[in-house]
Amino acid sequence: MHPSAPDGDADAPRVVITLPAYRAEGTLEQTIADIPTGLADEIILVDDASPDGTAQLARGLGLRVIVHHENRGYGGNQKTCYREALESGADIVVMLHPDYQYDPKAVPLLIAPILAGDADMTFGSRFAGLGDPRGGGMPRYRFVGNRITTSLENLLLGSRFTDMHSGLRAYTARCLTSLPFGSYSDGFVFDTQLLVDAVTTGQRVVEVPIPTRYTAESSSISIARSLRYVVSSLAYTARRWVERGRRGRRSPVRLRGTETGRILGAGPAMEHRCVLCGRSTMTLVFPATAQGSVPVDEFACTTGALSEHDDIVQCPRCGMVSSIPTLDPEEIVDRYVEVVDEVYLDAEPARRELFAWILGQIAGFTVPGRRLLEIGSNVGLFLQVAAERGWEEHGIEPSTWAVNEGTRRFGVRLQQGSIEDLEVKRDAADVVVMLDVLEHLNDPLSALKRLRGVINEEGLLVLSTVNLDGLHARYRGRQWPWFIRSHLHYFSERTLSAMLRAAGFRLVEWKIAPRSFPLSYIAGRAAAAYPRLGAAVLRLAGRFDPEIPVGWLGDITFVAARPAAVSSGEHSSLEPAPAGE
Ligand SMILES: [Zn+2]
Repeated sequence: MHPSAPDGDADAPRVVITLPAYRAEGTLEQTIADIPTGLADEIILVDDASPDGTAQLARGLGLRVIVHHENRGYGGNQKTCYREALESGADIVVMLHPDYQYDPKAVPLLIAPILAGDADMTFGSRFAGLGDPRGGGMPRYRFVGNRITTSLENLLLGSRFTDMHSGLRAYTARCLTSLPFGSYSDGFVFDTQLLVDAVTTGQRVVEVPIPTRYTAESSSISIARSLRYVVSSLAYTARRWVERGRRGRRSPVRLRGTETGRILGAGPAMEHRCVLCGRSTMTLVFPATAQGSVPVDEFACTTGALSEHDDIVQCPRCGMVSSIPTLDPEEIVDRYVEVVDEVYLDAEPARRELFAWILGQIAGFTVPGRRLLEIGSNVGLFLQVAAERGWEEHGIEPSTWAVNEGTRRFGVRLQQGSIEDLEVKRDAADVVVMLDVLEHLNDPLSALKRLRGVINEEGLLVLSTVNLDGLHARYRGRQWPWFIRSHLHYFSERTLSAMLRAAGFRLVEWKIAPRSFPLSYIAGRAAAAYPRLGAAVLRLAGRFDPEIPVGWLGDITFVAARPAAVSSGEHSSLEPAPAGE
């Protein structure tokens, strides 16, 4: 995947050791001297605005040195370390503290499980066998605090680690690019966030016993700061536990594991080809509630025709849920060309807020450049928010009205077309964004395959889509308002993950998108289904129109994926991508 070191064995993985440094003048030389020779292809030191001569000394020792002009904190320092290491083409990235608290001679032990192909991330444990932390001089309060928080975090993660606060770590490049570490804390909690996300996204995290050393200068963190660290670490672990469940699972613990996920219902078999696995018959779960011709406005983003849908079917083999549209594919595309959605911008402030959140999520991941392609841009509001943040924006959108409106109003680069006519130019985008589009496409799998051809190999695919696993969908059953005629497919984490895999992506993030809309906007949309309630709420909203958060309903999920090898198997999410391409 990455170019290897110019000198040495072309097949050997490139090992980069990073040193997050602050006031390391006194211990740096000893640390470097103890790194076994021939181990690292490159050593990078990031100096976090130390007031001493750390940077100068490091340059003298022949290290590559990056200096922060102001202090960013321990997490902020690691962000620079990892970005630089990834940019330099590292296959394995090591973090070693230059304060000599961890023995550099342990680094070969640390990376051995990665080299053997048994781990995606490793860390050195001072509590597992080789270490004697108390004898090594670890203060009692830190020893006890470490034991308690490690136990609690193990409980939440379903892991059995002995030391989750280790400062000696190693990662594969693939592990680091799977984690949105750019969005983590700049403080000490960074370590917890990275470890928790690695575990809860199914990375293979392995603990390696190492000896401990403690010296007066390396245990200088105050009790108050330690306590803050413990509280924030536990809070983060608990939040991820709620979102993703325990070890290796990305969604809350399921009572019964099945191949298909949630089965929505049992009806007669229907002739309909499963878009995900290709099975020729699917089970009718919710019979159609809408008949007759489909007016164009049902294809608008803000349609009022909620819970009016065609026959909804589920694949008994893979669990995919789709509808059997009464229109044929060409007619559906024509509808999107004709659509006019004047009320879309009524909720502009809330949409801007959501788009800013999405761009914040994207910023957490390392990508090679700033080229952003959006599929289904509507009037280009997302593109405009992206352009404001320095992205080179480019969008395609089928609606003639939206393209004209967006070009005129926001001045963004917007081109008329649908994903089916997207010209596949290799490596044309660093980030591809598709917000609430996938569920509208006739063939989402082939659309994803097209995008796979367009995206940079180190790029990021980001999408949002309707979520069948959400609280709201589970509670409402067939009454769920997002069962509408313009939605041709409905995803769960399981089916979307499988579809991404089949298209050559691997899922790296899955979370509920936070959304809020003005009360008047929600009432306007609810009025279609509940006319009297809607009218009453609209009257109220005339006087008092607060923003109502609706993210907790879980209707929309945010998903990030990285290019991977195209695979046909179901259980390949942990297999590393083959070398080359
Ligand atoms: Zn299927």
